Amino acid sequence: MSLVGCVYGDSAPPFRGGARQSGRETTEIAVIGAGLTGLSAALHLAERGRGVMVLDRHAPGWGASGRNGGQVNPGLKPDPDAVARQVGGARGAALVRAAWQAPDLVFDIIARHGIACDAVRGGTLRVARAARDMEALRRLTGQCHAHGIESAGLLDRDITASRVGSDRYRGALFDRRGGQLNPLAYARGLAHAAIEAGARIMIDSPALSLTRTVAGWRIGTPDGTVEAGQVLLASNGYSDALLPALPRSIVPVYSAIVATAPLPDPIRASILAGRESVYELGRITTYYRIDAGGRLLIGGRSRSRDLSGPDSFRFLQNHARRLWPQVASWRWTHGWNGQLAMTVDHLPHLHDPAPGLFACLGYNGRGVAMATLLGREMARWIDGASEHELPIPATPIRPMKLHRFWKLGVAWHVASGRALDLIS
Ligand SMILES: Cc1cc2nc3c(=O)[nH]c(=O)nc-3n(C[C@H](O)[C@H](O)[C@H](O)COP(=O)(O)OP(=O)(O)OC[C@H]3O[C@@H](n4cnc5c(N)ncnc54)[C@H](O)[C@@H]3O)c2cc1C
Repeated sequence: MSLVGCVYGDSAPPFRGGARQSGRETTEIAVIGAGLTGLSAALHLAERGRGVMVLDRHAPGWGASGRNGGQVNPGLKPDPDAVARQVGGARGAALVRAAWQAPDLVFDIIARHGIACDAVRGGTLRVARAARDMEALRRLTGQCHAHGIESAGLLDRDITASRVGSDRYRGALFDRRGGQLNPLAYARGLAHAAIEAGARIMIDSPALSLTRTVAGWRIGTPDGTVEAGQVLLASNGYSDALLPALPRSIVPVYSAIVATAPLPDPIRASILAGRESVYELGRITTYYRIDAGGRLLIGGRSRSRDLSGPDSFRFLQNHARRLWPQVASWRWTHGWNGQLAMTVDHLPHLHDPAPGLFACLGYNGRGVAMATLLGREMARWIDGASEHELPIPATPIRPMKLHRFWKLGVAWHVASGRALDLIS
């Protein structure tokens, strides 16, 4: 497996237990995609006694799940009021609670299965640079409290500066439920837990075709076929033409991260000493944290193609230097990027486009906690729970009109948003 340029492979325990799919095999449930969605679904299905086979084009965590910022952030992209309004009624309120509590599930799974992934619950800081972002944080704090999210509270300029180690922010919303981890180690740990519960994981096994049969579905791979009663598509930003409408229902967006060499102790003590995860409000989100090895990891929107090496993302290095002049001369050792899935309404989407066929995707950059949560919910649905019991209503797959122009739109949004953020 190659996650070119990515720092997590240096310390994540290796994945053991996968085989390449070959010959004619059968399973009760096939999961396509071994990211957090697919692995959480597989673990929870296997724990329910169901037969599961996970197929991945590469290996567990190869997609966004093993290369993300490692921030276990509470909540969805839209504010609680917007989520409650969009979904409506008691279900909307329940979704707000579930999404803001989702980090609890991640840390419970890690503890229950003894997953070694440098998990730390240092909390999440949403920080505001511009006056309008500070206003947004005040509104957000009020909404959190109105929805019973008491773990979140507003911090003033001075406290924010002392925590972040930079005086560039007007304040922050701190949520102690948040945390951080090594995402590749977490994904591989979930895969090992799923195998232990009875699931099978097939690596280097792309699903090339998906055909309806009398008993369910037939998946074609390069070396064989898998007959399954039910199928879950968990391919998110890497969705391909297997189900042609699916990739056209999301915008795949690239995000990039650069990492320093481990910082010397005095510098390390001056930046996020509480190991908080940070993301900035603004037109273009920048996020950062100090990892278990004392490296600074900083990420943000990237050009829309595979790139690696720290110098491919100099804008992120420059952003760090503006925040902390003390890292100016420090060495950047790693840089990488990957694809996540955005949706038009900024909510995740759950689908069942045909009998026995399911899909779940579109976390809009909140996938570490939400993909873990919705993987579990997909397992309940596949195992017979009613659609009404899910936190998000299932919808038909809606391909976007003029889909190919969305990528151009994203590129324009990134360039103009970055310029406006710099000015403000
Ligand atoms: C750089 C970056 C930083 C991010 N930072 C954060 C963060 O800090 N916090 C946060 O909450 N979220 C973050 N995200 C988003 C988060 O990582 C994703 O939302 C989440 O990992 C999605 O998980 P997934 O399992 O649905 O998809 P993925 O992890 O992308 O997995 C999809 C899998 O499907 C496989 N696949 C696709 N098609 C096929 C096929 N035909 N056959 C077999 N296999 C197939 C792929 O190989 C891949 O392994 C970030 C994303 C990126 C890219």
